[in-house]
Amino acid sequence: MLADWQRQFRFFLKALGGADCPLCALADNTARSQIEEMARRPPRRMAVCGAHLSALAGIVAHAASRTALVKAALNNSLDGTGVWAFECDICRAVEAAGGRVASIIRLLDRSLRFEKALERGPLFCHRHIARIVGHGRAPAFARIERRKLEELINEISQAQLLRRADLQDLIDKAAAYLGAPSGIDRKPPAEAGQFDNGTDGLAQAAAHQFAQWEEEQKTVRLDRLESEVASLRYRNAVLSEENRRYKLAHAAVEALRCDLERDRAALHAQTPPDNKERV
Ligand SMILES: [Zn+2]
Ligand SMILES: [Zn+2]
Repeated sequence: MLADWQRQFRFFLKALGGADCPLCALADNTARSQIEEMARRPPRRMAVCGAHLSALAGIVAHAASRTALVKAALNNSLDGTGVWAFECDICRAVEAAGGRVASIIRLLDRSLRFEKALERGPLFCHRHIARIVGHGRAPAFARIERRKLEELINEISQAQLLRRADLQDLIDKAAAYLGAPSGIDRKPPAEAGQFDNGTDGLAQAAAHQFAQWEEEQKTVRLDRLESEVASLRYRNAVLSEENRRYKLAHAAVEALRCDLERDRAALHAQTPPDNKERV
């Protein structure tokens, strides 16, 4: 039986024949199999990020099991000590698989045959290149990817110049290379350091601004209530008019009914006794 790293490296080698970053392909594949495994056998304690929870909830058909998973994920977003920190189990598995293959790529960096395979492969994404070559490691890999990047830039210029139809594909390739948002907002902000003049008086200024905002909200609420009152007044007027017409119509119907009954009684009185049953 193959070890984890062997299966992952084999998948990576196969993905070298594809069009996208092989480490991104490995990450997708690892996440998918982890999610499928979790859906089949929900672990007793699990922590997942939002993206992976959505994917997980998407494949769990049974509503009660889906709800249990969502609740477990929410509960586990707080660690036992009340600290707002957790690590997604699936992200961790994805990172571990990528890390193993990145190490192997660095180990094989001196192999000419491996270099040839990399040259035939697609451009890796920026994030994965950075992960492999960080601090001047894997110089051959870095050189190959740099050349592929330069080729992509040249190709985009050519496509624009010759008005080639594949320009959009090249732009998509550039976007895939640059990758997803880097998640800068996940890092804790440098709190007070963000304000040039420090936080002196900041709380007071913020409280003042909040009070202003609250006043504005009151005006907005008042406007909304006033227009609602106007609309209700109009509807009330319409209803009063309809009510008045209803009362008139009702009175007319009653008057007509009285007339009819009177005429009928009169007719009844004039009819000979033999014919009375037919009236
Ligand atoms: Zn990648
Ligand atoms: Zn995750």
